[in-house]
Amino acid sequence: MANRIPRVPVREQDPKVRATNFEEVCYGYSREEAMLEASRCLHCKNPRCVGACPVNIQIPDFIERIAQGDIPGAAEVIARDSSLPAVCGRVCPQETQCEGSCILGVKGEAVAIGKLERFVGDEIADRSLGEQRPEVAGGRYGGGAPIKDANGAAVTGVEPPSKANGAAVTGVEPPSDANGAAVTATRVAIIGSGPAGLACASDLAKMGYDVTIFEALHKAGGVLEYGIPEFRLPKDKVLKPAIESVKALGVKIETNVIVGRTVTIDQLMDDEGFKAVFIGTGAGLPKFMGIPGENYNGVFSANEFLTRNNLMKAYRSDYMTPIHAGRKVCVVGGGNVAMDAARTALRLGAEVHIVYRRTETELPARREEVHHAKEEGIIFDLLTNPVEVLPDDKGWVRALKCVRMELGEPDESGRRSPVAIPGSEFEIDADTVIMALGTSPNPLIAKTTAGLETTRRGCLSAGPDGATTRPGIFAGGDAVTGAATVILAMGAGRAAAKAIDEYLKNS
Ligand SMILES: Cc1cc2nc3c(=O)[nH]c(=O)nc-3n(C[C@H](O)[C@H](O)[C@H](O)COP(=O)(O)OP(=O)(O)OC[C@H]3O[C@@H](n4cnc5c(N)ncnc54)[C@H](O)[C@@H]3O)c2cc1C
Ligand code: SF4
Repeated sequence: MANRIPRVPVREQDPKVRATNFEEVCYGYSREEAMLEASRCLHCKNPRCVGACPVNIQIPDFIERIAQGDIPGAAEVIARDSSLPAVCGRVCPQETQCEGSCILGVKGEAVAIGKLERFVGDEIADRSLGEQRPEVAGGRYGGGAPIKDANGAAVTGVEPPSKANGAAVTGVEPPSDANGAAVTATRVAIIGSGPAGLACASDLAKMGYDVTIFEALHKAGGVLEYGIPEFRLPKDKVLKPAIESVKALGVKIETNVIVGRTVTIDQLMDDEGFKAVFIGTGAGLPKFMGIPGENYNGVFSANEFLTRNNLMKAYRSDYMTPIHAGRKVCVVGGGNVAMDAARTALRLGAEVHIVYRRTETELPARREEVHHAKEEGIIFDLLTNPVEVLPDDKGWVRALKCVRMELGEPDESGRRSPVAIPGSEFEIDADTVIMALGTSPNPLIAKTTAGLETTRRGCLSAGPDGATTRPGIFAGGDAVTGAATVILAMGAGRAAAKAIDEYLKNS
């Protein structure tokens, strides 16, 4: 019987070796391994895995195509519901979603749905990495550091890309009416180029809209570019092809444009002719604990630390970006962000402690990330809560003062609340403290756009289709939910694209 085959293990870099480099940890399946793993699926009549996928990918259907060796067919099935298979196959919390519900997991090991999705995404990216277009730095709004190519030459971004014969490449063919006369496509602005913005933009472009993404940073991708490290999500191999495929649909990306500062939403709609706007600006505002000593030198938010390393390439000797990894680092928090910051600091040469106030069972990070972090030598100080950052005589971090915790009654999240044990204070030697306690949406857009309501948590108020409190303006992803997941952001972007299409057809 097919389900007797044990789950096909995936090859990974040796923990001792990878703790010193930024190359990808997991090598993924070969074609033979993927086909063998795919053969384990029972093709259940009522597949629980599909119901547990936030965007309901038809999992048994794509797995069946892999088993038959039909990889383009598998990609087609996934593409109906997801535009980022190589990304989601790597970073989705499958153990609590599709794989967590797979029937084979009840008595044995679930089908490796994530690794199979990743395999399909990688195969397709390898085949279809086509013509590459530059992002437009600053665009009409000017400003921003010039982007450089691999040889260090400035890429101006203002010249339209051209074909071998010098003719301009305009993206998708311009729409035309029954007589072949050109029809001006309706313009839609997307703010933010994370998974929500990219998914919304590509669906709208496929529907024939003229789509422009405005991105505050100098590179597109959102958290996929600036937050999640190279060793989990290789930028050139995975993210770049995903962004290129969005651009190949004709979507324009203007980087170095902070909407709310460089230009407002009202200016985009009133002066620039955008008929609808999608806000996918994420939740990039870091939280701190509010304990004494957080202003000493050597205390960072995980967002700053990871952005310096990932977006600004501090880990590479050919970049000048300064980063302070220190000798002994305490990372406070237990989510994916904490694991990424800890494993990054380790690779930069530090001894790293994760300081978390509950137990391992409550760690919100993906199980695979915790496992990898432990293998690499991260030290977990559990049931431990910081109470003060202690300085040396020059104002730099010397130690993190903590208190031991025990678990009490469950709180409103259902998790047992940690309670401090009186008199249990102690110090952890540290020269760097990285706070990874969660993030919230930046209030800039809500503050500069009249009529956009927010929730008590500072998120944009929007319905399930992304409609905000202002007609023509839609929103989705972390900007609406608060810090969540890539797949939810992507799903929200796609749902909003449908709603924007309806809105524009009816207005
Ligand atoms: C370190 C880290 C690790 C994570 N690991 C995982 C994981 O393993 N699995 C998982 O599923 N999820 C993970 N997440 C969460 C996931 O990345 C996010 O939920 C997802 O990226 C949200 O997508 P988004 O499109 O809503 O926003 P983002 O990805 O945050 O993108 C928003 C974009 O908008 C831009 N922007 C913001 N304001 C403006 C403005 N005013 N004008 C123009 N542009 C603007 C930002 O620069 C950014 O590029 C992780 C998050 C972090 C930070
Ligand atoms: S639940 Fe598991 S075995 Fe059943 S269809 Fe889904 S992946 Fe296959």
